[in-house]
Amino acid sequence: MNVLVLNCGSSSVKFQLVDTDLEKMRLEQERVLAKGNISKIGSIAAQVDYAPTGGPKFQETTQILDHSKAISRIINLLSDPERGVIPDSSHIHAVGHRMVHGGEYFSRSMLIDEGVAAKIRECGILAPLHNPHNLRGYQMASQTLPGLPHVAVFDTAFHQTMEPYVYLYGLPYVLYQRHKIRRYGFHGTSHRFVSDRLMNLTKDKDPESMRMITLHLGNGCSMAAVKGHRSLDTSMGFTPLEGLLMGTRSGDLDPAVVLYLMGAEEIGMTEVNTLLNKHSGLQGVSGVSNDMREVVAAMDEGNERAMIAFKMFCYRIKKYIGAYQATLNGADAIIFTGGIGENGCETRSEICSNMDGLGLKLDEEKNVAHNGRESLISTPDSSVEIWIIPTNEEIVIARDTVRCVEVVE
Ligand code: ADP
Repeated sequence: MNVLVLNCGSSSVKFQLVDTDLEKMRLEQERVLAKGNISKIGSIAAQVDYAPTGGPKFQETTQILDHSKAISRIINLLSDPERGVIPDSSHIHAVGHRMVHGGEYFSRSMLIDEGVAAKIRECGILAPLHNPHNLRGYQMASQTLPGLPHVAVFDTAFHQTMEPYVYLYGLPYVLYQRHKIRRYGFHGTSHRFVSDRLMNLTKDKDPESMRMITLHLGNGCSMAAVKGHRSLDTSMGFTPLEGLLMGTRSGDLDPAVVLYLMGAEEIGMTEVNTLLNKHSGLQGVSGVSNDMREVVAAMDEGNERAMIAFKMFCYRIKKYIGAYQATLNGADAIIFTGGIGENGCETRSEICSNMDGLGLKLDEEKNVAHNGRESLISTPDSSVEIWIIPTNEEIVIARDTVRCVEVVE
């Protein structure tokens, strides 16, 4: 079965075509046939990047004025006689959509029908920058590819196993009832993928008793305390702003700072929102960049603020590792993933330094030698295993799509 995986943002569509079914999943014989990205949708200079597996990469700058045109262009590329990977669109059998927010409605992926679409629309109030675009992607794709099953895979669903005492804020309960203000968590497909992967790799332990701390460190960063197939806690909250220091987001903050800032700087809600989401984090503290590579390079050249930003980033993660060991009553493994988690050996080294009291001992040589690759990078006497597991959110979306479609059929 060829599953088209779509991730629609406000002005971009990322896509992959994955050949998979239940048997191929079992035998780990799934194949990505092609992948790509269309950005700057809505302009006369949209950027198209397309790469068929094993074939030459293709790029063009062209007019793509809306998401419907973007999806048509993707289907044209996939079935192009020269660089395509399928003869025509009838060789796409199902579509999987990344949806950011499923609210309290969705604790698993769902075949989209009118009722499901209406609930996703309702959750738009909780994720106004994402859900409407995700949903528009579904509407456009279902018009362009009529008659196919479409499946929604939610970033929040994995964390729906959190208990009320974990997900509630210390606010009047009525605000939760009235406005659904609570912690939801995000990056669920990634936390689920890497924890599932480690349970598959660890044959000698009962998966349901495995205590894992997953660290998704990319542009956005979050951690989760995972026991078996259940997320017990995660660092992001009502929005992705809570928790770790990120590329441009502040993470945890005394809420009184926001109130004070609005008065002191004479700024309103929109400006504070932009400040906390776009100008804070590594970028805001270092004044150098939101990109960890550039922060580390500046630190190596002696830039003081870059060093503080780097240390802040790692220190906060250390604190959450301690907290999640308390949540899980110890830990069997911590897993690094995401752009920084997979490739940032300096970051992994700093996070794991002086953590032997909590049972973490990093093998520094393996940390460098295995950079970017799936591997165990702790020393044999580390009581907590330390892993790098590259994430693959698209494959989770493709697999969930197959499961939803095949179970229904
Ligand atoms: P997104 O969250 O948008 O999916 P990624 O998971 O690809 O992003 O992570 C992007 C981040 O990964 C970049 O901002 C950069 O800081 C970091 N990164 C990529 N390569 C390296 C590297 N070799 N060392 C440290 N950080 C890296």
